[in-house]
Amino acid sequence: ILKKYVDGIPTETDMEVKLGETIGLKAPKGSSCFIVKNLYLSCDPYMRGRMRDFHGSYLPPFVPGQRMEGFGVAKVIDSDDSNYKPGDIICGITGWEEYSLLHSSNELRKIQLDDDDIPLSYHLGLLGMAGFTAYAGFYEICSPKKGECVFVSAASGAVGQLVGQLAKLHGCYVVGSAGSNQKVDLLKNKLGFDEAFNYKEETDLDAALKRYFPEGISIYFDNVGGSMLDAALLNMKVRGRIALCGMVSLQSLSSSSQGINNLYNAIPKRVRLEGFLQSDYLHVFPQFLQHVKGYYKDGKIVYIEDMCEGLELAPAALAGLFSGKNVGKQVVCVAKE
Ligand code: NDP
Repeated sequence: ILKKYVDGIPTETDMEVKLGETIGLKAPKGSSCFIVKNLYLSCDPYMRGRMRDFHGSYLPPFVPGQRMEGFGVAKVIDSDDSNYKPGDIICGITGWEEYSLLHSSNELRKIQLDDDDIPLSYHLGLLGMAGFTAYAGFYEICSPKKGECVFVSAASGAVGQLVGQLAKLHGCYVVGSAGSNQKVDLLKNKLGFDEAFNYKEETDLDAALKRYFPEGISIYFDNVGGSMLDAALLNMKVRGRIALCGMVSLQSLSSSSQGINNLYNAIPKRVRLEGFLQSDYLHVFPQFLQHVKGYYKDGKIVYIEDMCEGLELAPAALAGLFSGKNVGKQVVCVAKE
């Protein structure tokens, strides 16, 4: 439950876990609803946007005092909808609670259980919204070409880790930034990035980017915004592309007054900056699933997940995204089956 709207960086005490009203585990007759047992919940940076009292975004704010919601994997246990039967596993928007009453109008997809070797929680990351964001953003927005120089920020996170690996499979030179030496090590030694650096140890981000991209950046996949975007703008090649995926460094500022100063560079260099929402590209989702699942099964990509066990740890897990506590995709396990 969100206790109240948040100003600044969210902390676990902005949320609380409460014993709610007990619901019967039977879907009401005539409701076309179904009851699910929630198995895994996804922690995502966009949820920060729903913790403020602002109604002008693409999703409404959470209501203080009411349970939060987000992407999850859940098992149907009773149903009044003939399209969903007990035992079905679904992925989509569900409640941050043990059991939820859902309707098919919630954005849901069924998970086919023929993929026994792929853990169910991966449908929240590698094969879910985060992975799809990487896939759609990289191929649809960045128009990559073999041999190009790609920079990815928040590179070890849910989206970044796949962007970097897709860029490597595409024959690009790839550098990632992350906020700890442990993450830098993962980027270089597990995820196959050519280079990586800890942005918290750099006093001059422009100089750091010049070190790794002496001839400039062809593609910047921006997950953080702010001073990293500003530095990247100084280092873009002529006709470079910037995918504006997310601005996690700005999301928790209490005042939005901090601007970026180097945006002007986009003009003489004819840089294409494009913001996108993964939901604009859902027509590519089946192709994404087929490709990325294939890459994973063939051992061409790896996936790093950060799982915490128990709904009571969900507030800390979500808040941890904004201080970089997560190593890989942050997921909460509510129940294993
Ligand atoms: P991550 O798994 O990357 O987790 C967030 C990471 O952001 C943290 O681990 C931390 O990594 C980094 N971070 C936190 N605060 C700051 C800060 N102040 N400055 C720089 N980095 C910071 O999250 P996701 O992969 O799920 O999301 C990555 C981005 O993609 C987000 O901006 C998100 O909003 C965006 N997104 C956009 C979508 C779209 O449709 N456009 C869909 C999904 C996600 P580190 O330790 O390296 O700093």
